[in-house]
Amino acid sequence: MSADVVLGCDGANSTVRGIIGAELEDLRFEERWLVVDGVCDGDLGAWGGVHQVCDPRRAATFMQLGMLRYRWEFRLHPGESTVDLDTLLTPWLGTIGVRVVRRAEYIFRARIADRWRAGPVFLLGDAAHQTPPFIGQGLGAGLRDAYNLAWKLADGDPRLLDTYEAERKPHALAQIRLAIVAGWAMTGGQDRAAAVRRVVLGAIWRLPGLKGLALRSTSPPLRLARRGRRAGRLAPQPSVVQKGRTVRLDEVLGGGWATLYFGKASGPVVGRAIEVTPELDPSGGLRRWLRGRTVVLRPDRVVHRG
Ligand SMILES: Cc1cc2nc3c(=O)[nH]c(=O)nc-3n(C[C@H](O)[C@H](O)[C@H](O)COP(=O)(O)OP(=O)(O)OC[C@H]3O[C@@H](n4cnc5c(N)ncnc54)[C@H](O)[C@@H]3O)c2cc1C
Repeated sequence: MSADVVLGCDGANSTVRGIIGAELEDLRFEERWLVVDGVCDGDLGAWGGVHQVCDPRRAATFMQLGMLRYRWEFRLHPGESTVDLDTLLTPWLGTIGVRVVRRAEYIFRARIADRWRAGPVFLLGDAAHQTPPFIGQGLGAGLRDAYNLAWKLADGDPRLLDTYEAERKPHALAQIRLAIVAGWAMTGGQDRAAAVRRVVLGAIWRLPGLKGLALRSTSPPLRLARRGRRAGRLAPQPSVVQKGRTVRLDEVLGGGWATLYFGKASGPVVGRAIEVTPELDPSGGLRRWLRGRTVVLRPDRVVHRG
């Protein structure tokens, strides 16, 4: 079985970027990867998480997508246009057969637009920033852009709209840089300095803070005015109990501003007032996060004050 590598797609909307005169800054990461989806004749009996193969000769990613559907991602060498899928897949399959149902080449890049706004036109998602997918945050970052922008558009205050790029760009940049480090540590790169870099980055990667941040997919805080130590952080999303039903906190918060407090609220209550009682929060997780403070959440679930 052989596969001709097909044209890739970088997910960018270059036309709108071009119209508003924005340019993509290259953050110096580029790798070609082949993504292959296959349906197997039987269960491969693999561990259920995402496998990252840190082989400098052929870095790869593997995951189960459905009952018998699996995805393999293989890094391509510079100039490589044809790969022998049999050779690549056999170590995973053993005697089990596979029907390849999709294959596509992607170019993993790290780029960020130098401006995200021109008048009433805003960039968000991959049009504003592209990241290698090693910490699985590309779509997440785009969704956060959308949440950040949507409530500001609905509010209608032009000064608020000015804060969209100021808040989101440093955040997206931090996540891209983390993904680059994770990618280099996991795949080693392909140039001559790769061996040295693998050792250095492997050591950095063992630092508990960095590794924990990437593995938990924790979002770095937005740089907001200091209105408490959690200002700029994303609110947690624990299960809570409302009218006898276990629901996610989102359902209780509703769509707008909300103030969470335990006992008595301190400072002005903004939006929906929610007392975090033991009935609402039987596990105590939300109260532990509040630590006795009153927390004001923006509609995008970012802590405004608290
Ligand atoms: C192999 C791979 C693995 C990934 N894994 C993850 C992961 O684990 N977690 C994660 O969070 N992210 C991941 N990502 C990233 C994620 O897929 C992207 O960040 C996300 O799809 C970007 O969404 P978007 O809506 O901004 O852009 P897109 O998905 O590119 O959507 C833009 C849409 O606009 C359309 N369009 C373009 N121009 C026009 C036009 N002029 N008029 C009308 N329509 C237009 C396009 O056709 C497209 O449908 C991965 C990406 C790749 C390639």
